[in-house]
Amino acid sequence: MNVILMGPPGAGKGTQAEFIKTAFPIPHISTGDMFRVAVAEGTPMGIKAKEFMDAGKLVPDEVTIGVVKERLAKDDCAQGFLLDGFPRTVPQAEALDEVLGAMGRQVDAVVDIQVPASILLERMTGRVTCKACKTVYHLKFSPPAQAGVCDHCQGELVQRSDDNEIAVVENRLKVYEEQTAILADYYKNQGCLVAVDGNRDTKEVFADIKAALEKI
Ligand code: ADP
Ligand code: ADP
Ligand code: ZN
Repeated sequence: MNVILMGPPGAGKGTQAEFIKTAFPIPHISTGDMFRVAVAEGTPMGIKAKEFMDAGKLVPDEVTIGVVKERLAKDDCAQGFLLDGFPRTVPQAEALDEVLGAMGRQVDAVVDIQVPASILLERMTGRVTCKACKTVYHLKFSPPAQAGVCDHCQGELVQRSDDNEIAVVENRLKVYEEQTAILADYYKNQGCLVAVDGNRDTKEVFADIKAALEKI
């Protein structure tokens, strides 16, 4: 089962990926998470990616495509994958089709999580993540029991550096509209687009996604 989670920053891709993982045994591949690990480790790729991430811009296609190709070649992707935040440009989508085609595979479903722009800003600026286990919270919509502390592992909750500056957050939304939103048409033409209303309770959103994926 080869699935893509699509949607603007703050739509709930990471949140839904956690639910999906519990119901379907496919690896969750988030390019954002992979870049953040590389940044934290200070690898050459991480140092390069950080410049773009801090500005709310996309990491160049050749870097991103290379990272994903390497990841999809790993054994755990043999039965499928859940891509979160990739592809984000037409060249990325074309590169993915090419890689899958060479393996005799294809994209089975693209779940497009739709949330009005007016809601996204608050979603992003209120997001905090556990430094240790990476659980995502929202200061207003899903706060931890104790401020600043993870419910699961007592780890420290931190804000992403690209979520705390309004200009960067706004740029990410603009980049999505300009470069990524068009992919909905790309996948609609392939007949695999599933639009989901993401402006509801997380469990309701997941119920729709689960029903769609069970049909694959
Ligand atoms: P993405 O991966 O698409 O950027 P996240 O899953 O990290 O989005 O969600 C962004 C923020 O919004 C997080 O703080 C998360 O807790 C919160 N969130 C996610 N889904 C919902 C929802 N359906 N209703 C309210 N808040 C949500
Ligand atoms: P969000 O939760 O806001 O959707 P992500 O965690 O997916 O954001 O991505 C964070 C940042 O990582 C992006 O703003 C971008 O700089 C970089 N990034 C992630 N995925 C891609 C991609 N497919 N192409 C280019 N840049 C990416
Ligand atoms: Zn934790």
